[in-house]
Amino acid sequence: MKTHKILIDGKWRSSCSGKTFESLNPATEKPIGRFQSGNVDDVEKAVQAAKKAYEKWRKVPAPKRGLILLRAAQLLRKNKESLARLVTQEMGKVLPEARGDVQEAIDMAEYMAGEGRRLFGHTTTSELPEKFSMTIKSPVGVYGLITPWNFPIAIPAWKIFPCLICGNSFVFKPASDAPLCAIRFIQILEKAGIPRGVMNLVTGPGSDVGAPINKHEDIRGISFTGSRDVGESIIKDSGVKRVGLELGGKNGIIVMDDADLRLALDGVIWGGYGTTGQRCTAASRVIVHEKIRKKFERMLVSRIRKLRLGNGLMKTTDVGPLINRDAVDKTHQYTVIGKDEGAKLLCGGRATKRKGFFYEPTLFTDTSPKMRIAQEEIFGPIVCIIPVRNLDQAIDTMNSITYGLSSSIYTNDIKNAFTAIENIEAGLVYVNSSTIGSEVHLPFGGVKKTGNGTREAGIEGINEFSETKVVYVDYSGKLQKAQIDVED
Ligand code: NAD
Repeated sequence: MKTHKILIDGKWRSSCSGKTFESLNPATEKPIGRFQSGNVDDVEKAVQAAKKAYEKWRKVPAPKRGLILLRAAQLLRKNKESLARLVTQEMGKVLPEARGDVQEAIDMAEYMAGEGRRLFGHTTTSELPEKFSMTIKSPVGVYGLITPWNFPIAIPAWKIFPCLICGNSFVFKPASDAPLCAIRFIQILEKAGIPRGVMNLVTGPGSDVGAPINKHEDIRGISFTGSRDVGESIIKDSGVKRVGLELGGKNGIIVMDDADLRLALDGVIWGGYGTTGQRCTAASRVIVHEKIRKKFERMLVSRIRKLRLGNGLMKTTDVGPLINRDAVDKTHQYTVIGKDEGAKLLCGGRATKRKGFFYEPTLFTDTSPKMRIAQEEIFGPIVCIIPVRNLDQAIDTMNSITYGLSSSIYTNDIKNAFTAIENIEAGLVYVNSSTIGSEVHLPFGGVKKTGNGTREAGIEGINEFSETKVVYVDYSGKLQKAQIDVED
């Protein structure tokens, strides 16, 4: 089995710790490689390399940086199939979804390459004569990028491409359940021509690599995607630096009595069981109008029973494995909790006996909004139905959680749709579509405890990775005092 290295200052090397760890294929439980268990000394070296490289990189004109990103997009497209197969092998999602994971990185590279010719500031008037005022975008410095395993190519791409186009360098720490995807991705960016030291990759545990990155004085910004618990520790320990947090979700789909139920059914199956429920935008709550509840439950159960569990590389597979054994145990604990709380199990509720980390797609009904299965992020294939009597109750239920990432409403009544858009507390609202489906040129992120107000992707992704510098040019030839030399 191959032992993979970490990248510091353009060289692939072993960790100072001398330790390694394995990453498993969740469908077969076989290891797919051995990886460096990085530590604080590796982080120190990586930060110093990034700091040095930053001084040159920030001076490369942004359109030139964009050309490198465009080359990265071309190389990613050329390697799309092999990367997608690796995504499936390392984290388990079915192959068509893995292709989407890679496509998102291609889209982001192309979009951010174009931003290299914009990076707009604004010009405005001055309150004084012969004075010019404008804003420009400046890089921030060295970034720490910390990512989860569930989108092992797309999420790093959401951070890396805007980070680079804005002129920053970075130290990247991927999740330990998907380090090989991160290594292959960075190798492609190396080939595209990102200069030595601008990107550094350190694999290893969150406590030994992520925490030192977060606390490092020379790192000016952190972009973190992951669980709320770790996100809270990031905020606590980061000190004074820019921090972007993209945390968990407990997303809901409202199905009104006037909805197209077949369309809603497709949306719930895709949102609830796509990626085996392991998306921050997964739909784990279905808030259904009482009038159509029984019928919709029957339709759902019948569709769920037809879902085929298996290795994501097989064409016949609809739902892949969970990421690891802990995830299977955690998912099952929630089945037990749901039953104990009095929710009614309609189907699923068991791990399978086969090799691999498989759990049956599971559906609860008679769930009340305050139950733990309706409040806490499970990150597995468990969906709960919450019956409601009207739209007001549906929206109250939607908002009765501490998260606020994605949401959806199925209705054919425009008044219902706009009332939901206006009143749902979430970063994303879909109408007649599932909770999944973000596009790279629009911002992505959540409200409440899903984040701290930053947004990734779209133009707001540029804002996350750049400073705004205000420039005043006074060409009057005399000292002019704002607020003082202005006549009332
Ligand atoms: P996680 O929080 O366990 O780990 C995320 C990353 O943080 C990993 O690289 C991990 O090694 C690192 N880490 C762990 N402890 C750390 C510490 N003390 N300091 C710094 N880094 C540390 O999350 P996960 O299990 O990899 O991913 C699943 C979670 O991610 C879910 O909660 C999901 O909702 C969330 N997620 C959110 C989004 C979003 O955009 N909002 C997208 C995908 C996933």
